[in-house]
Amino acid sequence: MNILITNDDGIYSPGLASLAKIASKFGKVRIVAPDVERSAASHAITAHLPISYKKANIGLDDVQAFKVNGTPADCAALGIHLSKIDVVLSGINMGPNLGNAIWHSGTLAAAKQAVLLGVRGIALSTPVGKDDPDFEKLAPYVEETLEILLKDEKLALYNVNFPPEPKGIKWTSQSVRLYDNKIVPAIDPMGRKHYWFTVIPLGAAEEGTDRWAIENDFVSITPLRLDLTNEAELKRRLSE
Ligand code: MN
Repeated sequence: MNILITNDDGIYSPGLASLAKIASKFGKVRIVAPDVERSAASHAITAHLPISYKKANIGLDDVQAFKVNGTPADCAALGIHLSKIDVVLSGINMGPNLGNAIWHSGTLAAAKQAVLLGVRGIALSTPVGKDDPDFEKLAPYVEETLEILLKDEKLALYNVNFPPEPKGIKWTSQSVRLYDNKIVPAIDPMGRKHYWFTVIPLGAAEEGTDRWAIENDFVSITPLRLDLTNEAELKRRLSE
């Protein structure tokens, strides 16, 4: 199996190295990732400038790594263009991608880009506290998740989140009831007004959703789809 790994935290993120190490057990791994952090880049593509890649050394033997002056979606597309790829893994992101946050996620966008190009895509994320995530502790759960998802060859998109101390794995739906982004005004040292776009943690979420799983220490696997059609609204309009 040919596995392409990318992310939105940049090629030198420890989350990417950890994922590459585990993924190597399942096939031939190649890394094509942004040269700098592109978190919250969503599904942007670099349409008006050329992009290129350079060899990078991320300290893993037998794994080719290339850094790209582009977005996560660019990296997935370029990686798929450069060699035959069976699945794209994006992550492990330093920060959760739950509920409505997936609209902003560069991590998820890379996996989405893969699916748009006919290649399976899996996004993987974990929350970050004061310290970096303990990727060694997560490793067995990352491996179990990949075992479940990689053996199925159907073209699909999955969003996976790992709590800091997992006690199992759950299939979940996307939590769409709550939106946790907030704009906070502040004053800069020159006395000018500016704004922080921030994520404020929310309370408990609906059972069976991605947020609920993470709050209850379960790995969350959400199958996603790219068809955004509101079927109920379409049916209502067509019957008018
Ligand atoms: Mn990120």
